[in-house]
Amino acid sequence: MKSIAEEIIIKGINASPGICIGKAYRVDREGVEIVEKYKIQAKDLSNEVKRFKAAVKKSRDELLGILKKSPEELQHAHILETHLALLKDKMLYGRCIETIKQESINAEWALKTVISNLREVFQTMIDPYLKERSADVVQVADNIMRNLTGAKQVNIAAIKKRVILVAQDLSPAETCQINLERVKGFITDRGGKASHTGIIARSLEIPAVVGLKEATSTIRNDDLIIVDGNSGIVILHPTESTLLQYEERKIDYEEYKAVITRDSKAPAESLDGVRLSVMGNIELPEEVFALLNYGGDGIGLYRTEFQYFNRTDFPGEDELFDKYKDVVEVMHPKPVTIRTLDINGDKALTNQFNYEETNPALGLRAIRYCLKKPQVFKDQLRAILRAATFGNVRILFPMISTYFEIREATRMLDQAAESLEKNGLPYNRDIEIGAMIEVPSAVIMADVLAENVDFFSIGTNDLIQYSLAIDRGNEQVAHLFQPLDPAIIRMLKHVADVAREKEIKIFMCGEMAGTPHHVPLLLGIGMDELSMNPQSIPDIKRVIRSLNVADTRSFLKEVLTQTTAKSTFELIKATYGSILSEQMYSEGRKK
Ligand code: PEP
Ligand code: MG
Repeated sequence: MKSIAEEIIIKGINASPGICIGKAYRVDREGVEIVEKYKIQAKDLSNEVKRFKAAVKKSRDELLGILKKSPEELQHAHILETHLALLKDKMLYGRCIETIKQESINAEWALKTVISNLREVFQTMIDPYLKERSADVVQVADNIMRNLTGAKQVNIAAIKKRVILVAQDLSPAETCQINLERVKGFITDRGGKASHTGIIARSLEIPAVVGLKEATSTIRNDDLIIVDGNSGIVILHPTESTLLQYEERKIDYEEYKAVITRDSKAPAESLDGVRLSVMGNIELPEEVFALLNYGGDGIGLYRTEFQYFNRTDFPGEDELFDKYKDVVEVMHPKPVTIRTLDINGDKALTNQFNYEETNPALGLRAIRYCLKKPQVFKDQLRAILRAATFGNVRILFPMISTYFEIREATRMLDQAAESLEKNGLPYNRDIEIGAMIEVPSAVIMADVLAENVDFFSIGTNDLIQYSLAIDRGNEQVAHLFQPLDPAIIRMLKHVADVAREKEIKIFMCGEMAGTPHHVPLLLGIGMDELSMNPQSIPDIKRVIRSLNVADTRSFLKEVLTQTTAKSTFELIKATYGSILSEQMYSEGRKK
């Protein structure tokens, strides 16, 4: 009797939304895993180094070849350029050559040793973004190893069937070769949401689940699998009924996406004619393209700290200027809100620059760090002011908790402008200045802070953390992290009222802004601009278009009578249920 394989659900991380169903195609790097160690005689050492250099050169030529073939996908180009630079990085290239010479061993073993040491270093890093950047180094090393061992290159471009790729990891170079007519989606054992492979998947708009750990050890070639990039699961050997269910979900999702993206580039105007800017949050410059595709009206939050991670020094003014200028030029004339460095807390730098802190969320974070490190701050301020001559730039100071901080930050901005003037470098000081409102003291002092800024941007991720005393990264208390808590809603209303009274603009850039069922409330409060993960932009625009702002104002009065997050959610559902999509309901129900 033919045995029927049991349905298996593997949980991972949702790297790119969408659903696909199809046959698995394993992308194995044959021959690269097994490496032997052998001694090299002194007279042959220089040849061994040459062999290593030749493998690096071959990897470089391959990357350049791929780069040439994908000129219009600039976001991919940026990532491949990073890999090109890593090929010659001291910690990889230099150390391998040193290891071959010092230990008189073969190049493969030297590379393996260097990589396993680097992996250990990356493992000790707390920051998840940094940890994921280690994947880039490993991918680059894999490439060199393949060329050293003579293993075959994984040729994704040559795949002839319609398949779903299953790999331990896919390098950006491999992901870039994906032919959208052949590859329906991909899944990997390694990686996280912020990995470059995840970013490329999102920009290609194919479903992807990463960080599955055991996909390659469980799934064989030609196995039937379902990839649910919305919830981050993979179903192996689905039963008939699961298949039917997912066929339907896939159709629903595709219809839903087609409807919301069709109108996403049009402005978000409510039924009674109120226009709201719907902006995107970015971490990496290459995300601007996805943001524009999703119809973002600008960048409401450019988290600049990511340029400071994964390195042993601070980026200099010119390097920062180049990155900011690229983003500002691409976005022109749309606004780009550059937030100054918000490191530490949950975004700690490498140990070298860091302080041991018992309570990092309450420690030397964000603006506090910058005021303590005036040179680091000044370099960034000068870079921002210089980039501001290329488009529409706003500057945003994070985690302001006292009047002193905003006054000092503004004073340093003036000093930066004066120094640029002295150096004869072009700059633009005539830019809007904003304070992030993410600490309860800033809420209470909003009227005073408003005197020094042109806008407030509410960072609900931290505002909730600091107001409800909930560590935003702690899974144990995640159920208590409630944007709809009446305390939060009252704070939002207070800040918005103050902003109106003081005639400054009021924005929101925390995750709360990108959740559809919060929108009626946020319109009622009177937000001028909402900024979010770029993928949420079309749906938020759709919800705004189906609301009447005057109604949301009366609705807010009712919301303010609620005493719990749960009853507030029930009220939203009862009042606006019909215009809020199924997908976001299930999100709300989980809370
Ligand atoms: C926030 O705190 O809501 C915010 C947008 O900033 P970050 O998530 O980068 O701390
Ligand atoms: Mg914050």
